[in-house]
Amino acid sequence: MPVTTPAARAAAPSPDTALPQDFGALLRQDPEIGSILLAETGRQSSTLQLIAAENFTSPAVLAALGSPLANKYAEGYPGARHHGGCEQADAAERIAVRRATELFGAEHANVQPHSGSSAVLAAYAALLRPGDTVLAMGLPYGGHLTHGAPGNFSGRWFEFVGYGVDPDSGLIDYAQVRALARARRPKAIVCGSISYPRHPDYERFRDIADEVGCYLIADAAHPMGLIAGGAAPSPVPYADVVCATTHKVLRGPRGGMILCGVELSERIDRAVFPFTQGGAQMHTVAAKAVAFGEAATPAYAVYAHRVVAHARVLAAALESEGFEITTGGTDTHIVVADPGPLGVDGRTARERLMAAGMVLDTCALPYGDARGIRLGTAAVTTQGMDEDDMARIAELFGAAVRQEGDPGPLRAEVRGLAERNPPYPG
Ligand SMILES: *Cc1c(COP(=O)(O)O)cnc(C)c1O
Repeated sequence: MPVTTPAARAAAPSPDTALPQDFGALLRQDPEIGSILLAETGRQSSTLQLIAAENFTSPAVLAALGSPLANKYAEGYPGARHHGGCEQADAAERIAVRRATELFGAEHANVQPHSGSSAVLAAYAALLRPGDTVLAMGLPYGGHLTHGAPGNFSGRWFEFVGYGVDPDSGLIDYAQVRALARARRPKAIVCGSISYPRHPDYERFRDIADEVGCYLIADAAHPMGLIAGGAAPSPVPYADVVCATTHKVLRGPRGGMILCGVELSERIDRAVFPFTQGGAQMHTVAAKAVAFGEAATPAYAVYAHRVVAHARVLAAALESEGFEITTGGTDTHIVVADPGPLGVDGRTARERLMAAGMVLDTCALPYGDARGIRLGTAAVTTQGMDEDDMARIAELFGAAVRQEGDPGPLRAEVRGLAERNPPYPG
């Protein structure tokens, strides 16, 4: 079992100052909401956050989010706003854009999308017309809602064709992607997923898109932070447009972003504002700038690599506990595990894990109808947990899912593990 040295642990980029918020004033004015925020802070620091899409932002990011920039209206873009008094808003957005383009080596960045879904909506608005055919990972294999779900705008307004994964290997079936692209002649191919634990082969997707003459949109909402830290390949050299969230491994505020080349920059900007959004949330834009600044540091690169190393340890240890790991492991922060061999499906497993204080999602499996569980190591790694902790978490998983003994002591151990690694020390 790999050991994490005290030096490596010290290098863990967990935030080193306390939360900036003083809930005291809020509690006095509005005890109803104040007590909820206090309870949520307690929940986050006494349970294990293993939802693959979650992380702990730094106190600096939270400070920007809680700043009076939240009061500012700033429709438009720096230097071309529809409102007065935008000097500081412009300065913040220019810094956010410059940091994003430098961090990801992109020609253009739009940092205004309110969320990952808003970023994808704007990308489609920029490149497609209603009724166009789009090829994306099928929802049963890990496609996102914005990749053609019937209840989402994407499924309503576009003709989505889904590609899948090989049921045995769990890996994207590129032969199928190519065959579907040739047969259906999509206007765009989307690569990116909510639960695929491996790297998409962006070069291969580019080849297929070129062969049929369509756009390639990378929806890198999940791996964007790994890409920032050099722990995952970048779609930027291959995709026409890259959409992402800023709040997953990237560890920024809840929000979205879009990267593209200069040729598409005006179309993308117009698709965000005024086509799909109104005023930018400038406090969030400032917080994105802070997060991009943090993600450009050597400490963040160490973090991103540790996130992947931790996911690999967790995947291997869960396999020893009897879980079946889709694709046989992971290259990212995501692990998808089938608890079937332990006699339960993902829903029951999640309930039992929740009872022990371990918070995670269920997800589709590449085979059959039963659901699996999806977990991620971004948040626990931000807290400064190490590889030994990951191995212990896998044992706790096994015990909780098998319902060995009392859930009480399990819950107590999980609480101890969380409290020894506070996300916001002090
Ligand atoms: C998370 C995610 C999104 C959407 O992000 P929201 O901020 O929840 O709207 C879109 N696409 C993929 C692949 C994602 O993982």
